[in-house]
Amino acid sequence: MLGVAVFGSTGSIGQSTLDLIGLHPERFRAEVLTAHRQVEPMLRDCERFQPRWVVMTDPAAAKALQTRLREASWGAGINVLTGPEGLVTAAVLPEVDMMIAGIVGAAGLPSVLAAAHAGKRILLANKEALVMAGPLMVQAARAGGATVLPVDSEHNAIFQCLGENYRCFAPPKGVRRLLLTASGGPFRSWDKARMFSASVGEAIAHPNWSMGRKISVDSATMMNKGLELIEAHWLFCLPESAIEVVVHPQSIVHSMVEFDDGSTLAQLGSPDMRTPIACAMSWPTRIHAPAKTLDWQSAQRLDFEAPDTERFPSLALARASLRTGGAAPAVLNAANEVAVEAFLSEHIRFGEIFGTVESTLAELSNQAASTPGSIDELLEIDQRARQIARARIAKIAG
Ligand code: NAD
Ligand code: MG
Repeated sequence: MLGVAVFGSTGSIGQSTLDLIGLHPERFRAEVLTAHRQVEPMLRDCERFQPRWVVMTDPAAAKALQTRLREASWGAGINVLTGPEGLVTAAVLPEVDMMIAGIVGAAGLPSVLAAAHAGKRILLANKEALVMAGPLMVQAARAGGATVLPVDSEHNAIFQCLGENYRCFAPPKGVRRLLLTASGGPFRSWDKARMFSASVGEAIAHPNWSMGRKISVDSATMMNKGLELIEAHWLFCLPESAIEVVVHPQSIVHSMVEFDDGSTLAQLGSPDMRTPIACAMSWPTRIHAPAKTLDWQSAQRLDFEAPDTERFPSLALARASLRTGGAAPAVLNAANEVAVEAFLSEHIRFGEIFGTVESTLAELSNQAASTPGSIDELLEIDQRARQIARARIAKIAG
């Protein structure tokens, strides 16, 4: 029986993980659930999964949950922690064998780093952590002896194609390049002017995947693929020039690996995150996941095309930040988080996300080039980037 900590349990990744734990109660036990402030969904999952620990990072939500648990006939064995420090405490508990890192954004970083130091198996969905803190993550995992298994569908596909050739944070042998597939998002065929003023509803209506709001907007800007490029660089220890992006609108081929001998391996499946999560949870064996089976008897198309880098400048921005190195990817991530939040709150238009990220990167180009030696140094530049992005947004919105 493996003890699982589901970080971001009320979110899209968290709920997919709980589906799998529910299907395999003989193998997995949910020891920890965490969420920001959603009390009702958390209460429902507490009743069903009886975790030993719950973290609600919002103190008022933690209090409300505690009161409701006291009133419930089944709530006595559940301990409630709060604040960002509660996440770090929960990440290193001895009953936790594996962590599903399903918090969205920079808020997920400290707990992932703590789990890496503590030598846990980390099933990484939270790509922002690796984008912000690649070198610190590599150091922490090496020092703690942690194994990071990718859950992001593209990286999980690459992980599957590599098979026994996968070593956490070490270069695989005989690989010429990685091909990250991208759906192209909801605006793949929109012209630039129409895209510029797209509504929130249009941006979060992903054609193939059902996901949280932030990553849905990232898919619409294709910044998601930019972040994934940086994620792949750290996970698989390959240079930016060996990672290519291919648009594949059907989201059936989840990514590919091209080897030195000219062979290309791909992993295919229906777009359902329960498949990559199940793969990482049960590795090196396989368990059942309830994703729809691909139908090979009816006519199918698998299309591939080059991304339009003019309409989607995110890919070039991500590549440039990797080439700059140091804290540049953290600056890119911070500015993007702020810009996406501002778009979701309708303070800026969709097309203004790109300029906000670009100008923040330009303004911090000198400071960003040096590598932060500690989490404090990293968070300092992250905060600086957020201030600059917010100032620009205030100008646009004002
Ligand atoms: P989501 O918005 O559905 O869920 C986010 C979770 O994080 C929620 O449980 C929420 O309570 C928690 N959270 C939010 N802000 C927090 C904070 N400040 N402190 C603590 N907890 C906080 O997001 P999601 O779509 O499940 O995505 C989660 C992560 O997984 C993201 O990094 C995303 O890029 C990655 N990912 C998601 C998918 C997907 O299909 N949803 C696929 C690949 C990668
Ligand atoms: Mg992905």
